[in-house]
Amino acid sequence: MLELKGASKSFGDTVALHATELRLPQSQITALIGPSGCGKSTLLRLLNGLLFPDTGEVCFDGERMTASNVQALRRRMGYVIQDGGLFPHLSAADNITLMARFLGWESARIDQRLDELAQLTRLRPGLLERFPAELSGGQAQRISLMRALMLEPEVLLLDEPLAALDPMIRSDLQEDLRAIFRRLETTVVLVTHDLAEPVYIADSVVLMRAGKIEQVATGSDLISAPANDFVRPFVRAQRYLQSTEDSG
Ligand code: ADP
Repeated sequence: MLELKGASKSFGDTVALHATELRLPQSQITALIGPSGCGKSTLLRLLNGLLFPDTGEVCFDGERMTASNVQALRRRMGYVIQDGGLFPHLSAADNITLMARFLGWESARIDQRLDELAQLTRLRPGLLERFPAELSGGQAQRISLMRALMLEPEVLLLDEPLAALDPMIRSDLQEDLRAIFRRLETTVVLVTHDLAEPVYIADSVVLMRAGKIEQVATGSDLISAPANDFVRPFVRAQRYLQSTEDSG
């Protein structure tokens, strides 16, 4: 569904992503994980055409992404960022329906889709009329998710969607996300720095370091069979953090 073929990206002297090969199959949930600054967001932005690679190419459904087709291809992808990225001057409903209105959807179709999404994300009634400043972090992320899903995307890209939430809300939303992904059968790419998240949610985990992929595996294989001397301590440190969080 999505593919990097020798794609690399630098910013000045910083190589954010070395030439990378990666295939993300249809309907699979893939997590990108690794320490801060290892290139996760850069990889995600290459996938949705917010950035173009310096070398190599990025393909969506077999088609190479270029400046001329990127707008059309991006409408087939939903994108959720850490703080939600909602427009502060628009109500939640207007944020969600902005693109559909721009594309000329009829209001009955828009209302029906809004209802479906509110059920899917278990949004509390009444929140759609609120402005982003009147929503909690968890509510804002449900609205961002609804916005990303509005046009029924084939691919959903999420950049640390739960990172800014407190642990209780995070675990609620994590459960909901898992159920939503399974139900939609969308191709999902989820950036996270917390190993517990992909082990719970993802079919496959891509572990990165310093702009390179170190290992691609299922979450449990990553833990039971770390590929090298970077993966092993990374997994151990994550498990230690997890156990201190649990006991605290
Ligand atoms: P991660 O998402 O894993 O934290 P990023 O992909 O954001 O990592 O960043 C990878 C590297 O590229 C970092 O060293 C970061 O400072 C650098 N970088 C990312 N975006 C930019 C940018 N727009 N301008 C300059 N440097 C950037």
